[in-house]
Amino acid sequence: MHGLMQDRPLMISSLLEHAARFHPHTEIVSRLPEGPMHRTTWGQLSGRAKQAANALQRLGVAPGERVGTLAWNSHRHLTLYFGVSGTGAVLHTVNPRLFPEQIAYIVNHAEDKVLFFDITFAKLVEQLAPQLTSVRAFVAMTDEAHMPAIDVPNLLCYETLLDAESEAYTWPEFDERSASSLCYTSGTTGNPKGVLYSHRSTVLHALMELSLDTFGISSAETLMLIVPMFHANAWGAPYAAAMVGSKLVLPGPHLDGESVYRLMKDERVTFSQGVPTVWMMLFQYLDQHPEIDPKAELAVKCVGIGGAAVSRGMLERFENQFGARVIQGWGMTETSPIGVISNLLPHHASWPAEDVMALKLKQGRGVWGVDLKLVGPDGESVPWDGVSSGHLHVRGPWIASGYFRDEGGAQLDAEGFFPTGDVATIDQEGYLQLVDRAKDVIKSGGEWISSIDVENAAASHPTVAEAAVIGVAHPKWQERPLLLVVPRAGHQVDTAVLMDFLAQRLAKWWLPDDIVIVDALPHTATGKILKVALRKQYREHALP
Ligand code: ADP
Repeated sequence: MHGLMQDRPLMISSLLEHAARFHPHTEIVSRLPEGPMHRTTWGQLSGRAKQAANALQRLGVAPGERVGTLAWNSHRHLTLYFGVSGTGAVLHTVNPRLFPEQIAYIVNHAEDKVLFFDITFAKLVEQLAPQLTSVRAFVAMTDEAHMPAIDVPNLLCYETLLDAESEAYTWPEFDERSASSLCYTSGTTGNPKGVLYSHRSTVLHALMELSLDTFGISSAETLMLIVPMFHANAWGAPYAAAMVGSKLVLPGPHLDGESVYRLMKDERVTFSQGVPTVWMMLFQYLDQHPEIDPKAELAVKCVGIGGAAVSRGMLERFENQFGARVIQGWGMTETSPIGVISNLLPHHASWPAEDVMALKLKQGRGVWGVDLKLVGPDGESVPWDGVSSGHLHVRGPWIASGYFRDEGGAQLDAEGFFPTGDVATIDQEGYLQLVDRAKDVIKSGGEWISSIDVENAAASHPTVAEAAVIGVAHPKWQERPLLLVVPRAGHQVDTAVLMDFLAQRLAKWWLPDDIVIVDALPHTATGKILKVALRKQYREHALP
């Protein structure tokens, strides 16, 4: 027997409708790539999103079709978050930090019909346009005065395009399981893979982010989104902010320590989220300006950190110098991204300070909606004793079931759990701690570097017999690649020549920080390079 409650679909457009109705005057402040600050409100953004929806219809974008963005965090990008998904089309946020060949691959794989881009990326778009076979129109996210002079077919101006449209638009209702947004991740080897979110997964994930046991996002907060909107939907925060009408502060491309600090101060930011690297940049700025007292000048109460482990130094600095609480989270693009969130339980109040600190440095506890499982080498379940480690598998309504147009087939285990590629322990109280990574990648400043791609590039040099790339700890970027090479018999490897060779084949930030020549590399029984042993051996390697 069914219950007799109304069966209303969970729609992303409903979040914006709510914000516009109940928080019409709450501000959304952006620093634009053009330079100046821009101020709008949830009420105005709602009208703009409807104009965007009408414009997309005029451009012939049908429900289910993909619309790409190459853009920083701004009110225009936010408008598209709602304007695109609200019509039933799919917002595809492309990571502009990838190198051009990958961007072309991703846009073509997603078959984006329209590509919106910030003027920062105008030259990149001009360079790529001939290869982007599915794109029918390119929209520069700016006004007429700042239109880039580039040679691109069907180049439109964002502000002009939207100005021409009516604010009258009724958001359609459709199956809540329909795709809403798409984000590619290069977290595993091979080509980047598309994670395809749905209206249902997005709304449920946003709701979870409001809980006081997670980020406690509410109408009382001024939320500064440092994590890019092309990175797992800025961790879902734009949707959660709309759900409760938080004030939003969007820093555009200006993520240096000084810009972040000023914006925090000027806009009375209370809560912000980002990867450790951006906080390191903020700390560097503060180191250079000892006269600044963040606790006295800022209103920041809480900082959400994820994407890489939070160090004790970072946690203590936020607590002591800012008077702010750090909430660590673990997640992935494939998990929307929240998987676990760190917070303390009431009885920890009586624990010794050192034990509490150790707990805070763990990645966090499960939240409702995410089932966790640790799997041993033979597929057996690993106990939650805080010591035994296993491969972390997760299951839930905002966890990916597979990748977009992926020829590889289903990714889930027999019980429907998604294997994360992370290795973790879970203690008796359910606190998860990452101990290793089974996937062969390096994460530098919150972005992936594929070890395999760097190794393949190195191994294609005539003096190299075998190459291995591992991540080495780095104070600013968390990890940087170290390349180990075995010379071919009868050859000598000249590291400067090899570095030049790599520079012609890889994005600059993928280049190894150092190259070490070794006689041999350790291998597993099946002939794979034993990365675990190498990581252990070179953990303390001093990068130049
Ligand atoms: P995001 O950076 O938003 O978490 P990605 O999909 O780019 O998403 O990266 C996910 C991976 O980042 C995880 O599988 C894990 O290896 C690593 N990671 C995420 N959060 C943490 C954390 N708190 N501590 C350590 N590693 C983390």
